[in-house]
Amino acid sequence: MNTSTDNTPRLVDRFGREIKYLRISVTDRCDLRCVYCMSEDMKFVPRAQLLTLEEISRIGRIFADLGVNKIRITGGEPLTRQNVIEVFKQLGKLEKINDLTLTTNGTQLKRFAKDLHKTGVSRINISLDTLQADKFRKITRIGHLSRTLAGIDAALDAGFKRVKLNTVIMKNHNDDEVIDLVDFANERGMDISFIEEMPLGIIGDHDRAETHMSSDEILDVIRKKYELIPTTETSGGPARYFRRSGNNNRIGFISPHSHNFCEDCNRVRLTAEGRLLLCLGQEHSIDLRRVVRSHPIDDAPVREAIIAAMDLKPRGHDFDLNSQTVILRHMNSTGG
Ligand code: SAM
Ligand code: SF4
Repeated sequence: MNTSTDNTPRLVDRFGREIKYLRISVTDRCDLRCVYCMSEDMKFVPRAQLLTLEEISRIGRIFADLGVNKIRITGGEPLTRQNVIEVFKQLGKLEKINDLTLTTNGTQLKRFAKDLHKTGVSRINISLDTLQADKFRKITRIGHLSRTLAGIDAALDAGFKRVKLNTVIMKNHNDDEVIDLVDFANERGMDISFIEEMPLGIIGDHDRAETHMSSDEILDVIRKKYELIPTTETSGGPARYFRRSGNNNRIGFISPHSHNFCEDCNRVRLTAEGRLLLCLGQEHSIDLRRVVRSHPIDDAPVREAIIAAMDLKPRGHDFDLNSQTVILRHMNSTGG
C-alpha cells in the first residue's frame, strides 16, 4: 500500500496498478439460468455461508477507507437477495464512494428502481440479449422477456444518470439481433455494451468456441448499417466505446479474448461467500469472510488482509476458449 499526497491510503499491486474499484456479488442465486452463465442444475452456496448484509456493508466501508471510490453490486441476481436494499443504503452513505452502481437482469427493477435511485445508485447496467420472447426463454431457460422490458422502463423512469444494456452475442443464437438491440438501446437514450463470452464454469449447453462471436465481428455488422466514431472516453473499465454519427449514446465492446484489458485493471471482486478475488480469470484469492468473522469489531486486521492480498493480484487473465483447463467458477459466483 502507498499513501497519496493528501495521506489517503492507496491500494497498489505489484505491477503498480492502483485498485479503485470493488465489485461485490451479494448472492450467487438468480431467477434466470442464462445458458452462457449457468448450468441447468446449479448448486448454490448454502445461505449460512454467505456474507451477511452487515458484513458486506462493512467490507465496502473498509475498501472506501483504503482508497476505493467505485463499488458495483452484482451477483447472481442481486435484487433477489432479501433486504439487499439495506446494503445500497449503507454504501450510498459513504462519502468516499462517488460511483455506486448495479448490474442486474432487470426482472425486479419494476419494484426496486425508485428506491435504488433514492439510495444514491447512479448507474445501472441491465442484461438483455434478445428482444424476442421465445428466444429470451431459450437463452435464460426460465425467464419472461416482458419482465425485463418492464424493468428497463422502470429504470429509465427513475432518473439514473445512466442506464446501459449488457449483451452477450452468441453465433446461431442471437447474432441476427445486433442491429435491433443497438436501435432499441439508442432510441431510448441508453448505451449498450457487447461482452465477449468468457469460459467461466462448465455450462454443458453449448460449445463456447463454436458460438463465440468476437467484438470485431459485431463491429463489422454494425458498421454495415451505421458509421461508427471511436470515442476516447472510458468509464475506467475495459470497454472500448464508439458512437453512431448523429446519436449521443455509446456502443461499447468488452473483449477479453480479442483485446486484452488487464494492463489497466483497477478492480477486485468480492464473492457472495466472502472470497476476495484478485482477477476474474484466475483463482488468486483470500478468504476475507474468515478475517471479518474473526474480527467483528476491529477493522485493522481486515485492512491488513486486504492490503496484503494486493500482492496476489496476477498480471492478467488466461482465457482460452479452446483450452482443456476451465475456470470452474461460474460468472454468477464471481460477480460479472
Ligand atoms: N444477474 C445480473 C445480470 O445478468 O446482469 C448480474 C450478474 S451477471 C453474472 C453479470 C453480467 O455477466 C451479465 O451482463 C451477463 O450477461 C454476463 N455474463 C454472465 N456469464 C458470462 C460469461 N460466461 N461470459 C461473458 N459474460 C457473462
Ligand atoms: Fe442470472 Fe445474470 Fe447469470 Fe443470467 S447472467 S443466469 S441473469 S446471474
